[in-house]
Amino acid sequence: MQKVPFITLEQAQQIIADVPTPFHLYDEKGIRENARRLYKAFSWNKGFKEYFAVKATPNPYILKILQEEGCGVDCSSYTELMLSEACDFKGHEIMFSSNVTPVEDMQKAYELGAYINLDDYTHVEFLERVAGIPETVCCRYNPGGVFSLGNGIMDNPGEAKYGMSEVQMESAFKKLMAKGAKRFGIHAFLASNTTYNEYYPTLAGILFELAVRLNKATGAKIAFINLSGGVGVDYAPYQPASDIMAIGEGVRKKFEEILVPAGLGDVALFTELGRFMLAPYGHLVATVLHEKHIQKDYVGLDACAANLMRPAMYGSYHHITVLGKEDEPCDRIYDVTGGLCENNDKFAIDRPLPKIEVGDVLVLHDTGAHGFSMGYNYNGKLRSAEVLLKEDGTHELIRRAETADDYFATFDCTPFWPRLHGGQ
Ligand SMILES: *Cc1c(COP(=O)(O)O)cnc(C)c1O
Repeated sequence: MQKVPFITLEQAQQIIADVPTPFHLYDEKGIRENARRLYKAFSWNKGFKEYFAVKATPNPYILKILQEEGCGVDCSSYTELMLSEACDFKGHEIMFSSNVTPVEDMQKAYELGAYINLDDYTHVEFLERVAGIPETVCCRYNPGGVFSLGNGIMDNPGEAKYGMSEVQMESAFKKLMAKGAKRFGIHAFLASNTTYNEYYPTLAGILFELAVRLNKATGAKIAFINLSGGVGVDYAPYQPASDIMAIGEGVRKKFEEILVPAGLGDVALFTELGRFMLAPYGHLVATVLHEKHIQKDYVGLDACAANLMRPAMYGSYHHITVLGKEDEPCDRIYDVTGGLCENNDKFAIDRPLPKIEVGDVLVLHDTGAHGFSMGYNYNGKLRSAEVLLKEDGTHELIRRAETADDYFATFDCTPFWPRLHGGQ
């Protein structure tokens, strides 16, 4: 599908007059409409809830929008729990799906009354020792081997560090029951960024059958099944988009087929989507600083891999639109780069684009999830601002850009600190 930015050049210029590029821009309208579609797709399940994966876009404004749409939060660290607490997520509105969990993180999750999702069998005793056993506990499943859909291998759980085997799940449930747990959740994340509509239904089938077996073997009351994240987005125009209505319907069929006949028709379904909830509703907006023509034609932006790491890290495709030139022919071939001293700091390689000039404003699409949040400070580059485009068309700064003071702040334990802050 053709990729159209959610802002025009004129809108971008208005925002830039207020917040200089580069910045991450989020589309409130798109976020809300998409969340409503997800809830509609799973409306057949009474207890359905999406726990937004905070790591994808850890900004309180975004979390509040999703909270208004009925979502909870999925956290994996102490600071993500703090952020969720500050946004008034309470108790079972918080899922804690961590691994290699520090003591303080586990204690914080317990104190907040979150659903705790145990990554390992040994975490039963760990949880009891450092916090306590809640009435409802979730365990994360790893089936091992390879995970395939009709059209080929999707991922390799046998190589994944997460979760526990079925035998371990069974003893974890028994142990937890002996220690007072009364209700159980089952969780698994088997493939990332899949745009195959069969992913969730296939995963659901595996987890529903597991739930039936665990329920039989242990008598444990299964309260919920958490399909986790992994529903993908169409980063490239030639990719299919996920069809969330078809996905919801596919999961419903498995539910009717497997859980209902086993007497488990009251199980609630949860998701922990990050990318699907936010990626398409974020743009990284950047300005062309320089062009150069050597063996290839380059345009260099004021954004770099420190603002959006996916292309450098995974070779990911992010579509690019030159604002104001949407209808011009893409008759030039460019490498679009940032300014890191790393040759992999390229947002696009050999990309057909319209003729670009210094000062042009570019939109990098689908940066709303795992965009800003994967940012870092290499080469002394500072993190960008985040801006919300509201439903009424106005914009709001929802995180300011980092300054040199922020970058140097952790030298406050050294004698260099005053001079790094403009002192003597
Ligand atoms: C990263 C993660 C998610 C979200 O994944 P997406 O690909 O963004 O949907 C959900 N659950 C867990 C445990 C994760 O680690």
